[in-house]
Amino acid sequence: MQPSTGKPWELIFLGTAAAEGYPAPFCSCPRCAAARLNGGRDLRRRSALLVNADLLIDFGPDVFCAFQQLGLTATHLRLLLITHAHADHLAPENLEYRRHPFRGETPLPPLTICGPQDALDLIIPVMGRHMEDARLRLLPLRAGETIEDGRYTVYALPAAHGEEGMECLLYLIEGEGRRFLYATDTGPFPEGAWACLRERPPQLAILDATMGTLRGEHHMGIEQVKALASQLRGLSASIVCVAHHFSHNANPSYEELIRIYGQDGIRVAYDGLRLYL
Ligand SMILES: [Zn+2]
Ligand SMILES: [Zn+2]
Ligand SMILES: [Zn+2]
Repeated sequence: MQPSTGKPWELIFLGTAAAEGYPAPFCSCPRCAAARLNGGRDLRRRSALLVNADLLIDFGPDVFCAFQQLGLTATHLRLLLITHAHADHLAPENLEYRRHPFRGETPLPPLTICGPQDALDLIIPVMGRHMEDARLRLLPLRAGETIEDGRYTVYALPAAHGEEGMECLLYLIEGEGRRFLYATDTGPFPEGAWACLRERPPQLAILDATMGTLRGEHHMGIEQVKALASQLRGLSASIVCVAHHFSHNANPSYEELIRIYGQDGIRVAYDGLRLYL
Protein backbone atom coordinates (compact mmCIF):
# COMPACT_ATOMS: atom_id res chain seq x y z
CA MET A 1 0.00 0.00 0.00
CA GLN A 2 1.07 3.59 -0.63
CA PRO A 3 2.45 5.59 2.33
CA SER A 4 -0.25 7.67 4.08
CA THR A 5 -0.86 11.13 2.72
CA GLY A 6 -2.90 14.07 3.96
CA LYS A 7 -4.53 14.55 7.36
CA PRO A 8 -5.18 11.46 9.49
CA TRP A 9 -8.58 9.89 8.93
CA GLU A 10 -11.01 10.49 11.77
CA LEU A 11 -13.46 7.70 12.64
CA ILE A 12 -16.28 8.62 15.03
CA PHE A 13 -18.48 5.89 16.53
CA LEU A 14 -21.99 7.38 16.41
CA GLY A 15 -23.51 4.34 18.11
CA THR A 16 -22.22 0.99 19.33
CA ALA A 17 -25.27 -1.08 20.34
CA ALA A 18 -27.12 -3.95 18.75
CA ALA A 19 -30.62 -3.51 17.34
CA GLU A 20 -32.55 -2.73 20.54
CA GLY A 21 -30.02 -0.25 22.01
CA TYR A 22 -28.19 -0.67 25.32
CA PRO A 23 -29.97 -0.27 27.72
CA ALA A 24 -32.98 -1.65 25.83
CA PRO A 25 -36.12 0.33 26.70
CA PHE A 26 -38.29 -2.77 27.12
CA CYS A 27 -35.74 -4.73 29.17
CA SER A 28 -35.32 -4.93 32.92
CA CYS A 29 -32.23 -7.21 33.02
CA PRO A 30 -29.51 -6.29 35.53
CA ARG A 31 -27.16 -5.08 32.77
CA CYS A 32 -29.75 -2.63 31.41
CA ALA A 33 -30.56 -1.49 34.94
CA ALA A 34 -26.85 -0.91 35.66
CA ALA A 35 -26.41 0.98 32.38
CA ARG A 36 -29.28 3.32 33.29
CA LEU A 37 -27.60 4.05 36.61
CA ASN A 38 -24.05 4.33 35.26
CA GLY A 39 -24.85 6.42 32.18
CA GLY A 40 -21.72 7.55 30.30
CA ARG A 41 -20.08 4.86 28.19
CA ASP A 42 -22.72 2.31 29.22
CA LEU A 43 -25.34 4.14 27.15
CA ARG A 44 -25.17 2.90 23.58
CA ARG A 45 -27.14 4.05 20.54
CA ARG A 46 -27.71 1.82 17.52
CA SER A 47 -24.48 1.33 15.53
CA ALA A 48 -23.07 3.66 12.88
CA LEU A 49 -19.65 5.09 12.00
CA LEU A 50 -18.76 8.51 10.58
CA VAL A 51 -15.49 8.81 8.67
CA ASN A 52 -13.92 12.21 7.91
CA ALA A 53 -17.35 13.90 7.93
CA ASP A 54 -17.98 12.79 4.33
CA LEU A 55 -18.50 9.03 4.66
CA LEU A 56 -21.12 7.40 6.85
CA ILE A 57 -21.55 3.69 7.42
CA ASP A 58 -25.17 2.80 8.19
CA PHE A 59 -28.13 5.06 8.77
CA GLY A 60 -30.10 3.61 11.65
CA PRO A 61 -32.76 5.26 13.78
CA ASP A 62 -30.28 6.84 16.25
CA VAL A 63 -28.04 8.58 13.73
CA PHE A 64 -29.89 11.92 14.07
CA CYS A 65 -29.56 11.78 17.84
CA ALA A 66 -25.82 11.04 17.51
CA PHE A 67 -25.21 14.00 15.22
CA GLN A 68 -27.03 16.24 17.70
CA GLN A 69 -25.40 14.94 20.86
CA LEU A 70 -21.87 14.88 19.44
CA GLY A 71 -22.17 18.36 17.94
CA LEU A 72 -21.68 17.09 14.39
CA THR A 73 -23.19 18.08 11.06
CA ALA A 74 -24.16 15.76 8.20
CA THR A 75 -23.91 18.49 5.58
CA HIS A 76 -20.59 17.18 4.19
CA LEU A 77 -21.74 13.62 3.55
CA ARG A 78 -20.98 12.33 0.06
CA LEU A 79 -21.05 8.58 0.52
CA LEU A 80 -23.34 6.41 2.66
CA LEU A 81 -22.62 2.69 2.88
CA ILE A 82 -25.42 0.45 4.13
CA THR A 83 -24.33 -2.93 5.48
CA HIS A 84 -27.76 -4.59 5.28
CA ALA A 85 -31.51 -4.04 5.48
CA HIS A 86 -32.04 -4.62 9.22
CA ALA A 87 -33.85 -1.68 10.81
CA ASP A 88 -31.03 -0.79 13.23
CA HIS A 89 -28.80 -0.11 10.19
CA LEU A 90 -31.21 1.65 7.86
CA ALA A 91 -34.07 3.98 8.80
CA PRO A 92 -34.92 5.26 5.30
CA GLU A 93 -37.63 7.69 6.46
CA ASN A 94 -34.93 9.97 7.93
CA LEU A 95 -33.44 10.52 4.46
CA GLU A 96 -36.48 12.65 3.73
CA TYR A 97 -35.08 15.42 5.92
CA ARG A 98 -32.32 16.14 3.40
CA ARG A 99 -34.91 17.74 1.14
CA HIS A 100 -36.60 21.13 1.18
CA PRO A 101 -37.91 22.65 3.36
CA PHE A 102 -36.22 20.54 6.06
CA ARG A 103 -32.65 21.55 5.23
CA GLY A 104 -33.52 25.24 4.79
CA GLU A 105 -31.27 26.87 2.21
CA THR A 106 -28.30 24.61 2.97
CA PRO A 107 -26.51 23.54 -0.22
CA LEU A 108 -25.81 19.81 0.06
CA PRO A 109 -23.36 17.84 -2.08
CA PRO A 110 -24.96 14.83 -3.81
CA LEU A 111 -25.03 11.73 -1.60
CA THR A 112 -24.36 8.32 -3.11
CA ILE A 113 -25.95 5.50 -1.12
CA CYS A 114 -24.37 2.10 -1.69
CA GLY A 115 -25.54 -1.19 -0.29
CA PRO A 116 -27.24 -4.46 -1.07
CA GLN A 117 -30.16 -4.13 -3.50
CA ASP A 118 -32.66 -5.37 -0.88
CA ALA A 119 -31.61 -2.56 1.45
CA LEU A 120 -31.76 0.11 -1.27
CA ASP A 121 -35.22 -1.17 -2.21
CA LEU A 122 -36.48 0.15 1.15
CA ILE A 123 -35.49 3.71 0.20
CA ILE A 124 -37.49 4.11 -3.03
CA PRO A 125 -41.02 3.82 -1.54
CA VAL A 126 -40.14 6.35 1.16
CA MET A 127 -38.31 8.90 -0.98
CA GLY A 128 -40.26 8.43 -4.23
CA ARG A 129 -40.21 11.66 -6.24
CA HIS A 130 -38.01 13.44 -3.69
CA MET A 131 -34.79 11.64 -4.62
CA GLU A 132 -33.56 14.58 -6.67
CA ASP A 133 -34.52 17.26 -4.14
CA ALA A 134 -32.73 15.24 -1.45
CA ARG A 135 -29.76 14.88 -3.84
CA LEU A 136 -29.66 11.10 -3.49
CA ARG A 137 -28.23 8.54 -5.87
CA LEU A 138 -28.50 4.79 -5.25
CA LEU A 139 -25.76 2.37 -6.25
CA PRO A 140 -26.39 -1.33 -5.55
CA LEU A 141 -23.38 -3.31 -4.37
CA ARG A 142 -22.87 -7.05 -4.09
CA ALA A 143 -20.20 -8.99 -2.25
CA GLY A 144 -17.05 -9.12 -4.36
CA GLU A 145 -17.66 -5.74 -6.01
CA THR A 146 -15.55 -2.61 -5.63
CA ILE A 147 -16.42 1.05 -6.06
CA GLU A 148 -14.27 4.15 -6.29
CA ASP A 149 -15.73 7.31 -4.88
CA GLY A 150 -13.54 10.37 -4.42
CA ARG A 151 -10.73 9.50 -2.02
CA TYR A 152 -12.24 6.11 -1.08
CA THR A 153 -12.03 2.70 -2.68
CA VAL A 154 -14.67 0.47 -1.13
CA TYR A 155 -14.54 -3.33 -1.29
CA ALA A 156 -17.82 -5.10 -0.46
CA LEU A 157 -17.16 -8.41 1.32
CA PRO A 158 -19.69 -11.11 2.23
CA ALA A 159 -20.93 -11.18 5.84
CA ALA A 160 -22.28 -14.20 7.71
CA HIS A 161 -25.56 -12.61 8.75
CA GLY A 162 -29.24 -12.19 7.98
CA GLU A 163 -32.18 -14.29 6.97
CA GLU A 164 -32.25 -16.48 3.88
CA GLY A 165 -32.09 -14.25 0.80
CA MET A 166 -30.91 -11.10 2.59
CA GLU A 167 -27.55 -9.79 1.38
CA CYS A 168 -25.29 -8.50 4.16
CA LEU A 169 -21.94 -6.82 3.55
CA LEU A 170 -18.73 -6.01 5.35
CA TYR A 171 -16.79 -3.03 4.03
CA LEU A 172 -13.06 -2.74 3.49
CA ILE A 173 -12.30 0.93 2.89
CA GLU A 174 -9.05 2.14 1.45
CA GLY A 175 -7.48 5.42 0.37
CA GLU A 176 -4.58 7.82 0.96
CA GLY A 177 -2.41 4.96 2.23
CA ARG A 178 -4.96 3.77 4.81
CA ARG A 179 -7.22 0.75 5.01
CA PHE A 180 -9.81 -0.34 7.57
CA LEU A 181 -12.49 -2.99 7.88
CA TYR A 182 -16.02 -2.41 9.15
CA ALA A 183 -17.40 -5.83 10.07
CA THR A 184 -20.80 -5.72 11.68
CA ASP A 185 -23.19 -7.51 11.62
CA THR A 186 -21.51 -10.85 11.04
CA GLY A 187 -20.51 -14.19 12.48
CA PRO A 188 -17.05 -15.65 11.80
CA PHE A 189 -16.09 -14.46 8.32
CA PRO A 190 -16.98 -16.44 5.17
CA GLU A 191 -14.06 -17.54 2.99
CA GLY A 192 -14.96 -14.86 0.41
CA ALA A 193 -14.17 -12.19 2.99
CA TRP A 194 -10.84 -13.80 3.94
CA ALA A 195 -9.79 -14.00 0.28
CA CYS A 196 -10.04 -10.21 -0.01
CA LEU A 197 -8.48 -9.55 3.43
CA ARG A 198 -5.44 -11.73 2.66
CA GLU A 199 -4.76 -9.61 -0.41
CA ARG A 200 -5.47 -6.34 1.39
CA PRO A 201 -4.84 -6.64 5.12
CA PRO A 202 -6.39 -3.72 7.02
CA GLN A 203 -4.62 -1.54 9.61
CA LEU A 204 -7.79 -1.37 11.71
CA ALA A 205 -10.68 -3.83 12.06
CA ILE A 206 -14.00 -2.99 13.70
CA LEU A 207 -15.61 -6.27 14.69
CA ASP A 208 -19.10 -7.42 15.65
CA ALA A 209 -19.21 -8.32 19.36
CA THR A 210 -22.97 -8.65 19.83
CA MET A 211 -23.07 -11.98 21.64
CA GLY A 212 -20.84 -11.25 24.66
CA THR A 213 -20.38 -14.40 26.76
CA LEU A 214 -22.37 -16.43 24.20
CA ARG A 215 -21.38 -17.56 20.72
CA GLY A 216 -23.16 -17.00 17.42
CA GLU A 217 -23.18 -17.83 13.74
CA HIS A 218 -24.67 -14.51 12.61
CA HIS A 219 -23.03 -12.42 15.32
CA MET A 220 -19.95 -13.01 17.49
CA GLY A 221 -19.21 -13.37 21.18
CA ILE A 222 -16.09 -12.51 23.16
CA GLU A 223 -14.20 -15.73 22.45
CA GLN A 224 -15.02 -15.50 18.75
CA VAL A 225 -13.86 -11.87 18.55
CA LYS A 226 -10.61 -12.80 20.28
CA ALA A 227 -10.05 -15.71 17.87
CA LEU A 228 -10.80 -13.48 14.89
CA ALA A 229 -8.45 -10.75 16.15
CA SER A 230 -5.68 -13.31 16.43
CA GLN A 231 -6.37 -14.54 12.85
CA LEU A 232 -6.28 -10.94 11.60
CA ARG A 233 -2.96 -10.38 13.38
CA GLY A 234 -1.65 -13.27 11.29
CA LEU A 235 -2.29 -11.07 8.23
CA SER A 236 -0.98 -7.88 9.77
CA ALA A 237 0.82 -7.97 13.13
CA SER A 238 0.18 -4.31 13.92
CA ILE A 239 -3.57 -4.34 13.21
CA VAL A 240 -5.77 -2.53 15.74
CA CYS A 241 -8.95 -4.49 16.54
CA VAL A 242 -12.03 -2.84 18.02
CA ALA A 243 -15.04 -4.68 19.48
CA HIS A 244 -18.33 -3.05 18.45
CA HIS A 245 -22.17 -3.56 18.23
CA PHE A 246 -22.99 -4.79 21.75
CA SER A 247 -26.20 -6.41 22.94
CA HIS A 248 -27.24 -6.05 26.60
CA ASN A 249 -28.20 -9.73 26.63
CA ALA A 250 -24.72 -11.04 27.32
CA ASN A 251 -22.33 -8.07 27.32
CA PRO A 252 -21.34 -6.57 30.68
CA SER A 253 -20.56 -2.92 31.42
CA TYR A 254 -17.97 -0.90 29.48
CA GLU A 255 -15.49 -1.18 32.40
CA GLU A 256 -15.81 -4.94 32.44
CA LEU A 257 -15.53 -5.17 28.64
CA ILE A 258 -12.33 -3.13 28.80
CA ARG A 259 -10.90 -5.66 31.24
CA ILE A 260 -12.01 -8.70 29.21
CA TYR A 261 -10.90 -7.43 25.80
CA GLY A 262 -7.89 -5.53 27.14
CA GLN A 263 -6.26 -8.86 28.09
CA ASP A 264 -6.00 -9.53 24.35
CA GLY A 265 -5.12 -6.00 23.27
CA ILE A 266 -8.56 -5.43 21.73
CA ARG A 267 -10.17 -2.01 22.08
CA VAL A 268 -13.80 -1.53 23.08
CA ALA A 269 -15.97 0.93 21.16
CA TYR A 270 -18.25 3.39 22.93
CA ASP A 271 -20.54 6.10 21.63
CA GLY A 272 -18.49 9.13 20.66
CA LEU A 273 -15.16 7.26 20.47
CA ARG A 274 -12.83 8.89 17.95
CA LEU A 275 -10.03 6.91 16.33
CA TYR A 276 -7.39 8.27 13.99
CA LEU A 277 -5.82 6.28 11.19
ZN1 LIG B 1 -27.24 -4.69 13.88
ZN1 LIG C 1 -31.33 -5.79 29.17
ZN1 LIG D 1 -28.39 -7.23 11.40
